[in-house]
Amino acid sequence: MQAAPVVGKPYQERYIVNFTDLGLKKPILSILVKQGYETPTPIQEQAIPPVLAGRDVVGLAQTGTGKTAAFSLPILHRLSDTQHKAGYRAPRVLVLAPTRELTIQIETAMRTYGGDLGLRSTAVVGGVPIKRQIVAIRAGVDILVATPGRLEDLISQRVVVLDKIETVVLDEADQMLDIGFMPAIRRILKLTPRSRQTLLFSATMPNEIKSLSADHLKNPVEVAVTPVASTVDKIDQTVMHMNTDDKPSAVAKLVRTHPGKRVIVFTRTKRGADKVARKLNAENLGAEAIHGNKSQSQRQRTLAAFRDGSNPVLIATDIAARGIDVPGVELVVNYDLPNVPESYVHRIGRTARAGASGLAVSFCAGDEAKQLRDIEKLIKRAIPALSADGTPMPERSYAEPKSRGPKRPQPQGNKGRRRFSGNRQRASA
Ligand code: AMP
Repeated sequence: MQAAPVVGKPYQERYIVNFTDLGLKKPILSILVKQGYETPTPIQEQAIPPVLAGRDVVGLAQTGTGKTAAFSLPILHRLSDTQHKAGYRAPRVLVLAPTRELTIQIETAMRTYGGDLGLRSTAVVGGVPIKRQIVAIRAGVDILVATPGRLEDLISQRVVVLDKIETVVLDEADQMLDIGFMPAIRRILKLTPRSRQTLLFSATMPNEIKSLSADHLKNPVEVAVTPVASTVDKIDQTVMHMNTDDKPSAVAKLVRTHPGKRVIVFTRTKRGADKVARKLNAENLGAEAIHGNKSQSQRQRTLAAFRDGSNPVLIATDIAARGIDVPGVELVVNYDLPNVPESYVHRIGRTARAGASGLAVSFCAGDEAKQLRDIEKLIKRAIPALSADGTPMPERSYAEPKSRGPKRPQPQGNKGRRRFSGNRQRASA
């Protein structure tokens, strides 16, 4: 993973080699030792010093780069600098995230990293009873980790007051944009003090995110890591060409070749996810689906069973799976190819967490050829192909159009290049 600032002034101090050099407190350092973190990841190395110094930061980084710790560690350090009174206290840190799962995951991570600093945090998400959240907030919290919808609900009920907020984190900002949270985010930011510190993390930098940053951040330090290419490099990828009707038996066959191992199968639709889960369970393969139609408690149970290995196969749609961090995923299957090529990278990144390597197999039906070409343009390579019976197919160049007989050579990539310079610029592009 190479650090490569893409916009604005890069953070200059690039000689830091371990967490001690970053100036973090002893109690935080000892938690990191317990976690087995030996050296900071590139995003941590770049982001921790400016966050500790109170600067605003824009981070171009996706899940899997260690960005949660990159913002959590310096925030916890700064929070614990001031004495906190017993009993009620208004939140001083607000983290906004796009999905319930990611919100809960961030709050859990912050609690772990916070060790016994005596700070209180709570997750505020929809889909679960609001009462317990109200009780927790009224008892006093230092850190609120929230999805925008439920947070606005609690603000309108006057349970949450944001006038003591010192730091706001906008995590997975591009995903929040895609879900339609941008107006809510702007409303929420207006309720926080102008003097606050703001940290914005996003895997891509569409224009709307750039203008959010221009409107709400003060002279931010801009940091970036380019996990896409390196993540993709470590993953053994293949594409299997087949008819749509052959996908159910092909997925069952693949899962059977990884007995008891963690496998994530991605489908484009919720119905598709349920269908695959039924097929795999008919063969006792321990599968459960996770998507937006499942209740929050069902989703949490499913994830817990996946984490502890009692249900080793997770069938997921993109939104439900975004940001979920489960180590030890051996295989990712793209049952359907995603319409948005960036999703491919997010999906297969599940199998190459924190330095591990992994395996990704994508099914491609005849009507998915365009999606495959878009993915190959994005990752700038052809994915080795197998036919449905497992025999290797001839190698192609990623920009090569589907052969329609002999033809003049096509220009290689003007179109593709235009994609990258569009408003959804990737970290690696
Ligand atoms: P994140 O990008 O925040 O979702 O983090 C991805 C994974 O990397 C999580 O499982 C973290 O526990 C792990 N991680 C974060 N920082 C480090 C580090 N410095 N060394 C090793 N693992 C880390």
